[in-house]
Amino acid sequence: MAINAIKGMNDILPGDVETWQFLEAKARQVFSAYGFAEIRTPVVEKTELFCRSIGETTDIVEKEMYTFSDKSDNSLTLRPEGTAPVMRAFIQNRLHNLDPVNKLYYMGPMFRYERPQKGRYRQFHQIGAEIIGVESPLIDAQLLAMLHHYFCEIGIDAVQLQINSLGCPECRPDYRQALIDFLELRLGSLCADCQRRYQSNPLRVLDCKATGCQESTVDAPSVLDHLCGSCEDHFARVKKHLAALDIPFSVNARMVRGLDYYVRTTFELVTNQLGSQNAVAAGGRYDGLVESLDGPALSGIGFAIGVERLVLMKGEEKVPAPRPDIFLASMGSEAAEKAFVLMSQLQRAGIRAEMDYLGKSLKAQMRRANKLSARYALILGEQELETGVAELKDMDQSSQQQIELGELVMLMRGLCSSS
Ligand code: ATP
Ligand code: MG
Repeated sequence: MAINAIKGMNDILPGDVETWQFLEAKARQVFSAYGFAEIRTPVVEKTELFCRSIGETTDIVEKEMYTFSDKSDNSLTLRPEGTAPVMRAFIQNRLHNLDPVNKLYYMGPMFRYERPQKGRYRQFHQIGAEIIGVESPLIDAQLLAMLHHYFCEIGIDAVQLQINSLGCPECRPDYRQALIDFLELRLGSLCADCQRRYQSNPLRVLDCKATGCQESTVDAPSVLDHLCGSCEDHFARVKKHLAALDIPFSVNARMVRGLDYYVRTTFELVTNQLGSQNAVAAGGRYDGLVESLDGPALSGIGFAIGVERLVLMKGEEKVPAPRPDIFLASMGSEAAEKAFVLMSQLQRAGIRAEMDYLGKSLKAQMRRANKLSARYALILGEQELETGVAELKDMDQSSQQQIELGELVMLMRGLCSSS
């Protein structure tokens, strides 16, 4: 029996991969304008890194991690998200010594053991960005402006930015307690999961999809009514800066995010085009995370975009595969040899050149040139070899011109740079 890929893990094939490359290239281009450098970390880390940072009572750590023992009995985990590994690398390589402000971005696969469905996979990809070292609300607005700019550049506008503040270690405990007190009176209507976790992680109840949990928390206390003075001020300034940049947003006081390390500003980009998988990007501030991983006391903020969800939103609007610039057709083995050499010269000059490798008839070769949508075609036979002159067919215009074979590369260079 043929071997298939693991459930929830997908191949990205030619035809689709061009859209991926477009999304990645745009990220590199946009993020670079904002001064971000790429960082690449291993896909596997010590399990402890994720338990300590994401939080023991979160969905990710409780049930979604790909954790295994290696041959030396170390507990390893395929990264479920990018922030913790980036912070680990930041601390380990002392990047704060090089620059007090670090702007980093990453892209790559993440792994979560979830029930695979549209927009939710076990290996999925994120493009993420982190800013470490700045507490100012300017940086929250800057990061959100970059996210907004990225979505404009990739042509996805059916998304809405929602923001919230989750407070800080000063004011969050008060809110937690107020929420626990509220939930205690409604335990009967909560789902089993929430009944179990309302004490350890009461904020998760607000995020629970179960109807009972949603209905019974409609008038739960709002985190925004419990912010301390400095968190309130921070949030007000983030909103003011966003308005100054004309970035549209709405405040969603029920958005809690599923990771423990978030403080103050949190946000999601949501869409109504993807059913229940409605978040295409999410993130927030994580002041305290670097310190909790035994690094310096630096604040941080970041986001992660789900690339599969972007690709789904792009839908039929796929980025086309590049077409060959020229197809070299030939008759006879000597001409085929010449076509082969010419093709290599063209390719070295950066021109997309193709030929027949299968010894097909001229008619079949021209059919293939058409199927590949080659922009130009050149036919080489005995006569062309003798005279060194051949017809270059413009396949779009159905016209042709006589060219010197010795000038083909130069000519094609000119034609390709002007198209
Ligand atoms: P969700 O509520 O959809 O489970 P999440 O809060 O777990 O999302 P984050 O950890 O914030 O997601 O990850 C950021 C983004 O990564 C999400 O907004 C989503 O676009 C994408 N993402 C998360 N999990 C998956 C998955 N299993 N498959 C595909 N994309 C995912
Ligand atoms: Mg999730």
